[in-house]
Amino acid sequence: MSFDCQQVDLHCHSTFSDGSLSPTELVKVMADAGIKILALTDHDSTDGLAEARAAASMHGLQLINGVEVSATWRKQTVHIVGLGIDASSADLQRGLAQIQAMRVERAIGIGKKLEKSGIKNALEQAQKLAGGGQITRTHFARLLVEQGHVKDMKRAFKRYLASGKLAYVRADWPQVENVIQWIHAAGGLAVLAHPMRYGLTGNKRRQLLNDFAAANGDALEVNCGPNDPTETQTSAADAQRLGLLASVGSDFHDPSQGWIRLGLPRTLPDTVQPVWSNDGTVAHAALA
Ligand code: AMP
Ligand code: MN
Ligand code: MN
Ligand code: MN
Repeated sequence: MSFDCQQVDLHCHSTFSDGSLSPTELVKVMADAGIKILALTDHDSTDGLAEARAAASMHGLQLINGVEVSATWRKQTVHIVGLGIDASSADLQRGLAQIQAMRVERAIGIGKKLEKSGIKNALEQAQKLAGGGQITRTHFARLLVEQGHVKDMKRAFKRYLASGKLAYVRADWPQVENVIQWIHAAGGLAVLAHPMRYGLTGNKRRQLLNDFAAANGDALEVNCGPNDPTETQTSAADAQRLGLLASVGSDFHDPSQGWIRLGLPRTLPDTVQPVWSNDGTVAHAALA
């Protein structure tokens, strides 16, 4: 037996970070795909939530306020999704403002490095693609593809933007413990995003998860992104071992992205407890 969660998506992006659809367009695409409970989780920003909420009410979809926060664990960047947050929380917004400033600084650094590789005006063009939303490596990747420097996004990261590559600039994101505290201060639940996507050995991953749970993290993405059944089983076992709730999400960015698609069958093993309730709220009782 498994819990059917095909109508739930608690991880996706809009033009307020590195998604290519506006919150309004995104909510429509999600509604058309049969999603009933949705969390918009833009990188380090809650600015798209008001627009998403208006669109969600038009489509009869339950919206959970979300955000995907960049964090550091032992020099490794990890992502922590906050669900059910009060976006007006001063603690949370202070933290996000700090990260947003770091994003701008880092983008300037990436622009300089690309300039040295002979790619002119990259910063200005990436800013233009970001359109006032958070500036991310995805925007630099898009311009590298558009200008023919690389064939696709994957190669843009592999050659220029991934850790240690030509235009990589390290960012000193806040520590996991602090990010969890901000999310809790905003009344939300902290979910460790895509635990199988950090390129960690099993041992390292378990250390990360132990530290996340010890820092009062609440949940783990058990079925996310490309939805590999083996990874789902591993993450379900991790969640069960640590008493963490389970989340699901597509990590949708763009309709053309093969590895982040909508409409994939999403299930959760019945050994784990979902982080959401069917009334479209997240399980705040778990905080007690
Ligand atoms: P940032 O938070 O600005 O460092 O950018 C990270 C974002 O880049 C992630 O959220 C993904 O959307 C995207 N990304 C990372 N690696 C890849 C990759 N290999 N191919 C395509 N997109 C990627
Ligand atoms: Mn992204
Ligand atoms: Mn992520
Ligand atoms: Mn994401």
